[in-house]
Amino acid sequence: MSAPALPRGLEACPACGAGPCPVVLWEPAAVLANSSQGLPLELRHCPDCGLVFQASAYAGDYDPVMTQVYADYLKSEQFPFPRRSAENLASLEFVLAGLGGKQDPRVLEIGSNRGDFLYLLKERLPRASVLGVEPSRQEDLRVPTLRGCFEPGMFASRFDLVIMQHVLEHIKHPLAFTQGLGQVLADDGLLFLEAPDLGNSLAQGVEDFCLEHVNYFSPASLARCLPGLSLAACDQSSFLRSLWRRQGPGLAIPPGPDQAAVADGLARYAKNKRDLIRRIAAHQRSGGRVVFYGAAYYFRMVHRRLAPELAGDAGLYFHDDQVASAREPAFGLPRLEAWGPDCLAVLCSNNFRVQEAMAARLAGLALAGVVRPWLAEFAPGRA
Ligand SMILES: [Zn+2]
Repeated sequence: MSAPALPRGLEACPACGAGPCPVVLWEPAAVLANSSQGLPLELRHCPDCGLVFQASAYAGDYDPVMTQVYADYLKSEQFPFPRRSAENLASLEFVLAGLGGKQDPRVLEIGSNRGDFLYLLKERLPRASVLGVEPSRQEDLRVPTLRGCFEPGMFASRFDLVIMQHVLEHIKHPLAFTQGLGQVLADDGLLFLEAPDLGNSLAQGVEDFCLEHVNYFSPASLARCLPGLSLAACDQSSFLRSLWRRQGPGLAIPPGPDQAAVADGLARYAKNKRDLIRRIAAHQRSGGRVVFYGAAYYFRMVHRRLAPELAGDAGLYFHDDQVASAREPAFGLPRLEAWGPDCLAVLCSNNFRVQEAMAARLAGLALAGVVRPWLAEFAPGRA
């Protein structure tokens, strides 16, 4: 990889201190889902603990831009409450299995947003006490929630279950943060962490390598961020779901991808992304329709990646069974009325299981093609 231009960020691993760590991805102007501002994106891979981290997040304009982005970080507002997505329900079953029949846990969720997951948990465990902490300006809070950033000193008691879903990948200096988690976890408590799985993200080429994410975890690098905790359960079938506890013997930690797998995987990802963006832009220029399938968070990111290459919004549509409006709320793209052979579908999810489910729903349609960002283009029914 050619050496990146300025700014240079952190060169040593924020989890274990090893370094300097080699650069494995560099984009001079990466985009954000919730902002039109671009920032440089530099990822490095720690040869010691295996953490992939966003070095550029520790330099330059990152903090002021992201403070604004996270104030408006409303991930679920267009979906009915509580969001019963397949992934939310799978996470719920994973946590319930880990609780082993405990009916009245004290539960804290850090980054609870509207409270979808705590609400689903409370449905299954009516005697549980649940509390969320949410830093965004989310107004539509459906469970008891403290506004603000997590601080260990906020709480009078400790918790039997602490939940962080898709939060730790956004947090710089992860070790300092996880030490705070230890302070609020009961001696026999469980910590549920869910984040993108680095191995799956590399293999599937999904849009996880973005400015919002500052850490990319395998179970091994996650363990290095959780000293004193042992692995109680782990599921890598889509996201990395893991339960950790202070007491008892832990499971063996599955290894993460090695240096070559990370470097090769990210080089392939960068090339595929360039090629697919060109392909989508050429389809639009030729008069075909481009259909963004899925109008959630990753739709916005994919759209912003594409926007500089596209000729305006002509021929762009959205398709999402869960969004009732005639236009999606982020960019105002119109709803697709009917699929046709001039439609190129773009599967807007960062989860390959969700992408596969979307592709299965398109099977049998006559389409121009199905793009999985940023893995490949497939014939309908073959993605
Ligand atoms: Zn490291």
